[in-house]
Amino acid sequence: MKHHTAYIRIHTSMRYDIVNITGKVEEELRKSGIKEGLCLVNSMHITSSVFINDNERGLHKDFLAWVEKLAPYDVNGYMHNLTGEDNGDAHLKRTIMGREVVVAVTDGRLDFGPWECIFYGEFDGQRDKRILVKIIGE
Ligand code: ZN
Repeated sequence: MKHHTAYIRIHTSMRYDIVNITGKVEEELRKSGIKEGLCLVNSMHITSSVFINDNERGLHKDFLAWVEKLAPYDVNGYMHNLTGEDNGDAHLKRTIMGREVVVAVTDGRLDFGPWECIFYGEFDGQRDKRILVKIIGE
């Protein structure tokens, strides 16, 4: 069995953002040479997410508005922020949007359903973050 591990580095200019990372994951799949297997992609940070959905800007704004409604930014609104941090909302948003995705690799390609793309959801950005890509197969 072959395996390939890579770390995608990301630094968003905004505190909250959704970034399409499909191309970067496909690049790692090409490098791996793996034709049949599984591709795991996960955020390595507890204030950001990796998820699969539609590449449509309006929907991305809907996601950000939705998680803001569920867990609004509020410096004084979370027990977690008593530690001196201000990102209690970001931990909750990350949990709602998910940590990782696994995509089947078939014939050397990410075997997506129609319109599926992989996104990185940032909820406490403007600093260096990493995304793990682990591909196994043959
Ligand atoms: Zn925190």
